[in-house]
Amino acid sequence: MNDFIPVNEPLLNGSEKELVCKCIDTGWISSDGPFVKQFEERFASYIGVRYGIAVCNGTAALETALYATGIGEGDEVIMPTFTIISCAIAAIRLGAKLTLADIEPETWCMDVKKLESRVEAEIRKGNKKLRAIMPVHIYGHPVDMDPVLKIAQRYGMNVIEDAAEVHGAEYFSKVVPEVKFDRKYKKGKYKSTGNGTWKKCGSMGHVAAFSFYANKIITTGEGGMVVTDDPVVAELARSYRNLGFRPEKRFYHTEFGYNFRMTNLQAAIGLAQMERVEELISIKRRLGTYYRERLGNIPGVRFQIEKPWAKSVYWMYAIEIDPKLGIDAETVRNRLKEKKIGTRPFFMGLHAQPVLKKKGLSLNGNHYPMADHAYKYGLYLPSGMTLTEEKIDVVCNALAAALEKE
Ligand SMILES: *Cc1c(COP(=O)(O)O)cnc(C)c1O
Repeated sequence: MNDFIPVNEPLLNGSEKELVCKCIDTGWISSDGPFVKQFEERFASYIGVRYGIAVCNGTAALETALYATGIGEGDEVIMPTFTIISCAIAAIRLGAKLTLADIEPETWCMDVKKLESRVEAEIRKGNKKLRAIMPVHIYGHPVDMDPVLKIAQRYGMNVIEDAAEVHGAEYFSKVVPEVKFDRKYKKGKYKSTGNGTWKKCGSMGHVAAFSFYANKIITTGEGGMVVTDDPVVAELARSYRNLGFRPEKRFYHTEFGYNFRMTNLQAAIGLAQMERVEELISIKRRLGTYYRERLGNIPGVRFQIEKPWAKSVYWMYAIEIDPKLGIDAETVRNRLKEKKIGTRPFFMGLHAQPVLKKKGLSLNGNHYPMADHAYKYGLYLPSGMTLTEEKIDVVCNALAAALEKE
C-alpha cells in the first residue's frame, strides 16, 4: 500500500534556507529587517498594485484591510456564507455586522446575482449601513468580479477581496470604476473598457488580503499581506499593524492598533517563494489539469469548473460528489483515510456556525441551500506542491473505489 498522501505540503527547496540563514547571520530577525520591505514591494508589484503591507497572518490581513477602509462600529459587511471564519472574525472584531450571500454551485464562489438581490432587499428595508462587499475567491478560482464592482459603485460600498487562496489567479475584467476609493461611500458608475483585460485577483477591489499560511500557494509559514493602490488605506493599514503608531509622531496615539507585524524570518521565506512564483503556479495548474482529466472518468464526481473569464490557480483540488450516489463527503473522506489519503472537508457556512448563533448576531434568518449542499457533498483531495501524477493516479483510483456501492 502507498505511503500516506498528505492533503498539503509546501515546496521550500529554492533559496528559502539561504535567506533565512542571512537573517540569523545578520541578527535581523524582527519585523525591522530588510526583507519585509523587499517582500512587500515584490509581492505588490506582482499583484499589480502600489502598496503591500505585510502582517502576521491572513486573518490579521482581513481585519487590517477592513479597518483601513474605515469599517467600524455598526457598519455591515456583506460576504459569502461559504468561507472561513476569519472573514467573520475580522468584521466582528471591528464592531461590524455580517450580511451573507449564498454561493453558485460550479465554482463555490459568491453568487453575484444573489449578492445583488440581497443588497437590494437590504436597501429596500431601509438598511443604510452596508459599507463593504467582501468577495472570497475560492480554492484558486476568482469570483465574477465585474458585477461585484458594479454593485459596489451603484450603492456606494467598498470592495475588500479575500485573496488568501488565489495568489496569481486572474480575472477578465471589462470595467473600470468612476470613483476609485472613497471613505465617504460615494456612489459612482463602472465604465466599460471595451475589450477588457486580464487582472490579478487582489488588484480589482479597493484593498485585498492575502494569506501565506503553509498550505497557500506562496507561503511564509504564517503570514499575510494587505495590498492596495490607495495611499491613505496603505498608511492606515501600516499603522493598524503596528499598535496605531503614526509615522509623523512616535509614541503619540490617536487610535488603537495591534501588533500584527511580520518578521524578517517570515519575509525571507516569502521572498524566496516569490523568486519562483510562476513555477509554483504552473505546478498547481499542471497538477490541476491532470486531476481534472482523471476525475472526468469517474462518474458522480465534479471538479471545480474554470469559467471562461477566469484563470484559476487550482489552489485546492476540490470536488463535489453527486448526491445520487447516496453517500456524502464525510463517508468518502473516511474511506480515503483508510487508504492513507488525506482530505479536508469544505467550509461549513457562516450561517450555521454555533459561535455566530451564540453571539446572537442576526444573520437574517435566510437560507443558503447551495452552501449547505457544498458542505455536505464537497471535499478536497491531496493538493500539495510535492504531489506527482503517479500519486494523483493513486488518489483517483482510491476515490473511484470509495464511491462504489458496497
Ligand atoms: C487561509 C485563509 C484565510 C486566513 O488566513 P490565515 O493566514 O490562516 O489567518 C482567510 N481567508 C481564506 C479564504 C483562507 O483560505
